[in-house]
Amino acid sequence: MAAILGGGLGGLSTGYYLLKNNINNNNNLKLFLLEATDYCGGWIKSIRTKDYTFEQGPRTIRPKGIVGLNTLNMIQDLGLSEHISPITPDHPAAKNRMIYVNQNLHLLPSSLKGVFQKNTPFSKPLIYALLNDIKSPHKELEDDSIYNFVERRFGKEIADYAISPMICGICAGDAKEISVKFLMRTLFEWEQNHGGVIKGMMKSMFKSKNKSDFELSDLAKRSQEEKWNVYTIKGGLDIFPRTLTNYLKENDVKVNMNSNVREIQFVDSGTVTLKNTSGGELIANHVYSSIPAYSLAKLVHRQHPELAKNLTEIPFVTVGIVNLYFATQKPLIEPAFGFLVPPIENSPILGVVFDSCCIPDQNGTVLTVMLGGKWYKEKFGDRTTKENLLDIALHEIKKILQISDEPAASNVNILHNCIPQYVIGHYEKVGKIRQYIRDNNLPISLIGCSYDGVGINDVIYSAKTQVQKDCT
Ligand SMILES: Cc1cc2nc3c(=O)[nH]c(=O)nc-3n(C[C@H](O)[C@H](O)[C@H](O)COP(=O)(O)OP(=O)(O)OC[C@H]3O[C@@H](n4cnc5c(N)ncnc54)[C@H](O)[C@@H]3O)c2cc1C
Repeated sequence: MAAILGGGLGGLSTGYYLLKNNINNNNNLKLFLLEATDYCGGWIKSIRTKDYTFEQGPRTIRPKGIVGLNTLNMIQDLGLSEHISPITPDHPAAKNRMIYVNQNLHLLPSSLKGVFQKNTPFSKPLIYALLNDIKSPHKELEDDSIYNFVERRFGKEIADYAISPMICGICAGDAKEISVKFLMRTLFEWEQNHGGVIKGMMKSMFKSKNKSDFELSDLAKRSQEEKWNVYTIKGGLDIFPRTLTNYLKENDVKVNMNSNVREIQFVDSGTVTLKNTSGGELIANHVYSSIPAYSLAKLVHRQHPELAKNLTEIPFVTVGIVNLYFATQKPLIEPAFGFLVPPIENSPILGVVFDSCCIPDQNGTVLTVMLGGKWYKEKFGDRTTKENLLDIALHEIKKILQISDEPAASNVNILHNCIPQYVIGHYEKVGKIRQYIRDNNLPISLIGCSYDGVGINDVIYSAKTQVQKDCT
């Protein structure tokens, strides 16, 4: 019997892959999923009305790379292909991504041509950044912040106006703390092994590429043919975890909601006891933990304080989310994905997504303002109210987008400790944690956004690889 801890996308995907593995290998492994709340889907939560859809957590998924294609394979297998709403390269949400700098919105280049032109707020065409890389000396390092790396290779403007806001958009974090390996592992390795990014790229062009034997679903093939930029799910992203939950239930996985696990006791290398807050106990042969590292730390602390200490050293940040709906026939914004605010601007907001441009079937203008992240405490303290965040968000969009209408509907959420920060040394720390588990023969696998990537695709792929590892 296996227990899956946590019913976010990580836990649900673990159930999915364990079931597939059961079917393929003719096994009859009994599966339990334990979720603390009355909902499976974790941070993925959508509010639907006839006029708008508010996404309170994630909204778009990237189709690219093995991890992106793998998610599309799963989506097709779950029968969700018809629900996909792709954003293709000619869509304004793919072409128009902006940053807010010096009290102005600036369009980032989205084509090769744009790289040769001067685009404000950059003082030179971006192609000059490549010359900087060729000239800059190489520095031998084990790891570095993504900000330092980009500043060293491509210059300060790229670090401030391209990478720093991108990190805010992906993990609400500070590029000066986040590891370069989080997004630019290959470029960093090129620098370390060949003295520069361009030099490394040239050398790698002559190396034979390993062809992956990964099988693509029709949906995955379509995403490649149509060159999807990102995609959303019509009617709300929560359709995805809801469908996965039903799939697990239909295939005899026992999904226990309102089951808040408070302690894990390892008995031997094939027995583990999970105790919940209402006094219930479950004995399993293996546990797949998909809960955040800081939550798992509390559950293993009594038996394994060293493991708990390492798990708590993976930091998380809090994000404020303000969804706004304006019931106007005339759009209040230019069509675009939205804009991000570089930390150097010292703004209370991280960025704004123009949902009515990215998500179909919205009857008016829908925006989502993201606030805080790494700077949440510094900007808002410990006791900010939702009303306060709404006022700040409205003030900022009035100032930046000149929207003076009052929203017809709004929704504010404070997502405490919702996004892990892969700071310098993160991957070595995760290696150490997994080594401890192996050394002590603990029947536990680590899945979810704390370890192998913070996005939806990463979490799903991490479930797949951990399940494959344990089943071989
Ligand atoms: C605001 C925001 C925007 C995002 N935007 C995007 C995006 O656009 N695209 C993208 O790809 N990714 C995005 N992400 C990231 C994406 O949401 C995550 O990668 C993914 O949802 C993480 O899933 P998970 O299963 O690892 O964790 P979670 O969603 O945190 O799920 C963990 C589950 O475990 C449960 N749990 C915790 N402790 C216990 C316990 N002791 N006992 C039982 N159950 C427990 C929780 O209740 C929860 O349901 C965003 C994240 C946030 C917060």
